[in-house]
Amino acid sequence: MITEVVIVGKGMAALVLAYLLKQEGINYVLLDRKTGVKAFDLAETLPPSALPLLQSIGLLELFEKHSIRKTYGYHSLWGNDRLANHNFYFYHPYKYGLKIDKRNLLADLEQKTGSKNIPYEYLIQLKKEAGEFQIVYQQNGIKNTLQTPMIVDATGRSRAVLKLLNVPSIDYDGTLSFTCHLARKKHPDLKHDVFVESFKEGWGLVSGLKKTQNVISIFTHRESPIFHSVSSFQNWKTILRETKYLKHFLSDDSAPKVKGKRANSSRPQKITGNGWLVIGDAALAFDPLCSHGISNAIYTAKKAAAAIVRKTDFTDYDKSLQDIFHTYLKSKEHIYRQEKRWQNEAFWINQKVAI
Ligand SMILES: Cc1cc2nc3c(=O)[nH]c(=O)nc-3n(C[C@H](O)[C@H](O)[C@H](O)COP(=O)(O)OP(=O)(O)OC[C@H]3O[C@@H](n4cnc5c(N)ncnc54)[C@H](O)[C@@H]3O)c2cc1C
Repeated sequence: MITEVVIVGKGMAALVLAYLLKQEGINYVLLDRKTGVKAFDLAETLPPSALPLLQSIGLLELFEKHSIRKTYGYHSLWGNDRLANHNFYFYHPYKYGLKIDKRNLLADLEQKTGSKNIPYEYLIQLKKEAGEFQIVYQQNGIKNTLQTPMIVDATGRSRAVLKLLNVPSIDYDGTLSFTCHLARKKHPDLKHDVFVESFKEGWGLVSGLKKTQNVISIFTHRESPIFHSVSSFQNWKTILRETKYLKHFLSDDSAPKVKGKRANSSRPQKITGNGWLVIGDAALAFDPLCSHGISNAIYTAKKAAAAIVRKTDFTDYDKSLQDIFHTYLKSKEHIYRQEKRWQNEAFWINQKVAI
């Protein structure tokens, strides 16, 4: 099969790019790896700054339709033990963010992008011949080949295409997230349903998902003393015992599953090349503390679609992403430096990155 563009992955970045290419009449195929692993809801929140971006590509209505609720701010306990209230009231033009129902949103986006998705088991080979990529993959146990002049890596932190292209990743820290779903609890001091609190071995995030459910994540590091115990929920009461609010959200659910994931800041050594580019987390992976992962997936998809339509080289795309990542690292460093109470602990030492 021959196609103008092949997008590998089926997350937010991939589907927004597919949607935009469809609008431009560009012929694409989306390669979607079958894993059998059930999607795990993270209760992602979009900040108010993401809404004009969505409006600019005609997707604000769809995101609003698939949002669980509007969010008007969040609370934090970071750098000291005073509760901070970060209100979105002064943001412009939107004074609210969105807590998205990502699973249904992606399903709706997929419907809108049409039926150009090829489910496959794994990528076997990527070769370049006479200016075209030959992508060899296995589908239902059978070897197939796709031919395209343009391939987009949208495989998140897996960077599956980049691995086949031998492009290494640069990691700026080793942050890992451990997440579980718990019965919803509220705290009378917290009016927003997103809350962040730092502690000696890392930081935690509570985010309301459904009416009856909270998502709680602990962010830590392989060298932190809690690393070996954090993947069992039964240890969370001990791990969070010195926190002021986080411990309050631990309900007595029997044994919720804890899902571990990479959550570090990283980028590949190259973001574009001859006939390929990278979008979303695969291009720039941010610390979830900044809440910009989904905005980044949408923004890079928008920029990538424009670059593909223009058929120019990808210098502008490359430069703007490098600039964004540099600015992000500076602001991340600034936020982590505000927490001075545990400077000599493994997790906090690990956050001191060279920009
Ligand atoms: C605990 C936690 C909380 C977060 N909270 C927020 C938040 O509040 N707000 C926010 O904006 N962001 C948040 N994020 C970040 C956000 O989830 C990501 O930035 C965003 O989902 C990235 O989208 P993506 O499409 O680039 O990648 P992904 O969503 O990772 O999608 C990648 C796609 O590629 C596929 N894939 C993977 N490997 C392969 C392979 N080898 N071959 C083919 N396909 C493959 C996957 O199946 C998937 O379809 C959070 C992240 C974590 C871990």
